[in-house]
Amino acid sequence: WQPLSTLEATKIAGSVRDLSVMVLLYPFSPQDLDLGEVAEALRAVFFFNDTATPEIYTRRFGHGGFTNPDSETRRAAVGLVSAAADAGRELGCEYIKIWPGQDGWDYPFQVDYRQIWRYSVDSMRELAQLHPGLRFAIEYKPREPRNRMTFSSMARTLLAIEEMGADNVGVLLDFGHSLYGGESPAEAAQMAIDRGKLFAIDVNDNFRGWDDDMVVGSVHLIETLEFFHTLQRNDWAGVWQLDQFPFRENSADAARAGIEVMKTMWRACALIDDDALRAAQDAQDALAAQRIIRRALLASGPEQD
Ligand code: FE
Ligand code: FE
Repeated sequence: WQPLSTLEATKIAGSVRDLSVMVLLYPFSPQDLDLGEVAEALRAVFFFNDTATPEIYTRRFGHGGFTNPDSETRRAAVGLVSAAADAGRELGCEYIKIWPGQDGWDYPFQVDYRQIWRYSVDSMRELAQLHPGLRFAIEYKPREPRNRMTFSSMARTLLAIEEMGADNVGVLLDFGHSLYGGESPAEAAQMAIDRGKLFAIDVNDNFRGWDDDMVVGSVHLIETLEFFHTLQRNDWAGVWQLDQFPFRENSADAARAGIEVMKTMWRACALIDDDALRAAQDAQDALAAQRIIRRALLASGPEQD
């Protein structure tokens, strides 16, 4: 397995019809890649770009990024995010995606919980203040690579953001992370939307025991529909962003499959009888609600090319 260069990745993403943005990993590959070249490659295939994600989860940060016991490594994590933010601003990114995958702990008694929490909150607040014109979206995940993670659920992430007191920090809800964290993703989305904090979403699917990153809708079709319906009901205007990790399937084909599913969800949402659904929900009538949803989904028709 060879990591793709930034320009190759851009080209492959550009070959997928209907894809309008991509997530850039930072640092670029190769690291000394000129920012102008990246901008040009992006311009060639996309209308605009929405996000860059700093790699604060690599080997160097194996014992934590923001929560590393070594203060220099903590500074390096903040510095890397800050550099990604500078590059992202140049490239016209809407926000910076933050996944502090190494921040947390593995064993009971390993850390002072208050200290770990403070490290995370303070680092994010500092970044938000350093880049007031840019938005940061924290992508929470229940576990892996750490056994326990600081930002592991919607509620914990919202609580941390409230403590930061920063308007430009919000949440990236990864549908698969929410699923295997035991949440109802639609409910988690509603919580964030009601606080003005749903900055971005990733969609994919899994068997709920692990972050399998499968093609969207391949396992939890009804909950996927509920999730998209919740976004639409709230006039949420962000990008429907794929985060799939096909191990054996061709990645461009898997992206195309995911897009087909999202188009089906779009059609199904339009077919939902909203008044009837509202009435069913006011009465908390589970079977009536299920009937409305089933009808919309089954009537959504074949995929058109
Ligand atoms: Fe994700
Ligand atoms: Fe994931």
